[in-house]
Amino acid sequence: MSTICAISTPVAVGGISVIRISGNDAVNIAEKIFVPFSKKPVSQMLGHTCAYGKIVFNGRTIDDALLTVFLAPKSYTGENVAEISCHGGIFVTKEVLRACIASGAEPAEPGEFTKRAFLNGKLSLTQAEAVMDVISAEGKQALNSANLAHEGVLFKKIKSTTDDLVKILSELAAWVDYPEEDLPSVENDVLATSLNTAISQLNLILCDYDSGLIFRNGVDTAIVGRANVGKSSLMNMLLGFDRSIVTDIAGTTRDVIEESARLGGVVLKLSDTAGIRQTDDKVESMGVDLAKKKLENARLVIAVFDASEELTHEDKRLLDEIKDKQCVIVLNKTDLQAKISEDDFAEYKKPVVLISAKEQKGKKDLENAVLSILRLDNVNSDTTVFANERQKNCVEKAKNSLELALNALNLGETLDAVTVTISKACDFLLELTGEKATEAVIDEVFHNFCVGK
Ligand code: GDP
Repeated sequence: MSTICAISTPVAVGGISVIRISGNDAVNIAEKIFVPFSKKPVSQMLGHTCAYGKIVFNGRTIDDALLTVFLAPKSYTGENVAEISCHGGIFVTKEVLRACIASGAEPAEPGEFTKRAFLNGKLSLTQAEAVMDVISAEGKQALNSANLAHEGVLFKKIKSTTDDLVKILSELAAWVDYPEEDLPSVENDVLATSLNTAISQLNLILCDYDSGLIFRNGVDTAIVGRANVGKSSLMNMLLGFDRSIVTDIAGTTRDVIEESARLGGVVLKLSDTAGIRQTDDKVESMGVDLAKKKLENARLVIAVFDASEELTHEDKRLLDEIKDKQCVIVLNKTDLQAKISEDDFAEYKKPVVLISAKEQKGKKDLENAVLSILRLDNVNSDTTVFANERQKNCVEKAKNSLELALNALNLGETLDAVTVTISKACDFLLELTGEKATEAVIDEVFHNFCVGK
């Protein structure tokens, strides 16, 4: 395999830049351009050691630099690696890179260092993908889960399911291939139990994926309700400061106000919408249209009602509109004399929370209801491992295959047919971890990396 090189730090002015060389010739190439002040030859440097010297090319000094050497297989890529840390100017860094290329290294493709690490068995495919996630993580939670994936948590979860399936397959194979031998017969119900266990393990991973996405991206949340029930007041309570001016003239919230509030570890991307109401006011009716759109797209709806008034037609129409959404019903103004209670919402089968935005009461109850409806009440945001679309697709396809296998088994089809579908499921999981991924899949994964990683 060729020896490759790239600038591994951003191409921007900074204190230092790192140029990485990896491959059989990495140390030889470094030796051609690096002159150590100690005079000790680069070729004699031990792995994980560093030398101070200068980069000289064509008889011209380019910069002072540090050279760090890692010898195969104890390096990021598993190959010989030489890393040159020079001053962080764009021109000087590119000059060092040019010197490396002129001395025999080839420019690396995006992600090629990590791809080599994967090909040399240093990382699984999921760990390699996690490297990307660590780099692109924008918050604590995202970084935590990327690090967990990097440590191989997802890989281990998948591996244990794959191992179970391989065990089932080997038993089936023995039985199908040597029916005349006196092997213990594969009991259908034992097989069905094993398949069910594997299916639930994959289901857990898929749920984890959803929670991971929620922790990473937040939840689009629409606060809806007719005018004056206290939507803006609730939003202010969640945000902890006065974002919108609260007035008691119906219809003052004419546009959609968007803010993010953190509730129980989850970021709610709140949009406080104009009350969905009939109106002749042109500007306000635009607000109403926007509100309807927000409602359609929202993953979570917080529907607010005024506990001090009877339910109106408009309230009931709203309740009909949101009956298929993930929704928490909020009864606001509970500091006033109540005209309605939880019982009035029984038929809608949604959690009901009593609050008083004015007195800032009920936030914790709302938090619990939101976490429970998003099924996050038992999820620890610090241990969620999020996967990417590719990984999720593999898990989904594997799960579908196992469900087909279970179905075939229940319909009394031959064990041959069942075996084929289980083996397909196994292939999807091996594709996920990269143990049996096609070149196309691997190229696609590393294509998304940056050069130098
Ligand atoms: P929106 O139109 O739904 O956004 O409602 P606002 O938040 O603008 O509130 C309308 C009116 O209800 C304002 O006068 C608020 O002060 C009042 N209000 C809001 N929440 C409460 C509450 O919990 N208790 C009481 N007594 N009044 C409230």
